[in-house]
Amino acid sequence: MLVNAAEMLKKARAGQYAIGQFNINNLEWTKAVLLTAQELKSPVILGVSEGAGKYMGGFKTVAAMVAAMDEDLKISVPVALHLDHGSYDGCVACIEAGFTSVMFDGSHDPFDVNLAKTREIVALAHKRGLSVEAEVGSIGGEEDGVIGAGEIADADECRQLAETGIDFLAAGIGNIHGVYPDNWKGLDFEALEAISKSTGGIPLVLHGGTGIPEDMIKKSIGLGVSKINVNTECQLVFAAATRKYIEEGKDLQGKGFDPRKLLAPGTEAIKQTVREKTALFGGGNKA
Ligand SMILES: [Zn+2]
Repeated sequence: MLVNAAEMLKKARAGQYAIGQFNINNLEWTKAVLLTAQELKSPVILGVSEGAGKYMGGFKTVAAMVAAMDEDLKISVPVALHLDHGSYDGCVACIEAGFTSVMFDGSHDPFDVNLAKTREIVALAHKRGLSVEAEVGSIGGEEDGVIGAGEIADADECRQLAETGIDFLAAGIGNIHGVYPDNWKGLDFEALEAISKSTGGIPLVLHGGTGIPEDMIKKSIGLGVSKINVNTECQLVFAAATRKYIEEGKDLQGKGFDPRKLLAPGTEAIKQTVREKTALFGGGNKA
């Protein structure tokens, strides 16, 4: 059931658990995440970066595929289709294309510009029933060619962004995209607590969920994190399972070259990651 993400995240915040955002790259990814969310009776957010949207043919293709698959597979749990790290124009395009949620990432703009653009996107999106995520304090690491330095967000800037009427907020607290380096200092819980206090109970979003230790994940949920983004981990397990299939020569046996067989181990690996993450975040049986 396609919905925006506002209600599921409000419930998560009140119930002290988090909903997983799993980024999708193709049909197999989408099917794996939807079927597993249904199996776990968990609400779920499908994340689509601008690069992934382009890869799949465009935002309209993505929206049509997700809506049709949701119906064909009789998915009854709440599913949000969310633009991840959107530009202003990307948000406008996704609102038109039939997404149910958008993230406007103005974290690389001067703060007053970020604030003004976020306010505009909130007006456009809310008029059409979409939920909105905004970001302050850029997330470290690399995503689709955008390099973030990994700042700690300022609690007062978070308050100002929350007051634009956004539905949930991504605030940098030392988290980064991709695989964490060995010398990573960990999440800044003091900053998270200050942000949580200054933003009046709005659900907070933790980007870069791959490789954050479990105790830190649980502590952050206790401090107001209600949405956790998982992207790299699904890519890693998909690649590893596909590599194993080919290295074992299975593509050369019988009809092992059939894409439905070739991509099956990777798809199953994504399902397993969604199960593990949903259990860790506490999102099962919450639909
Ligand atoms: Zn992110």
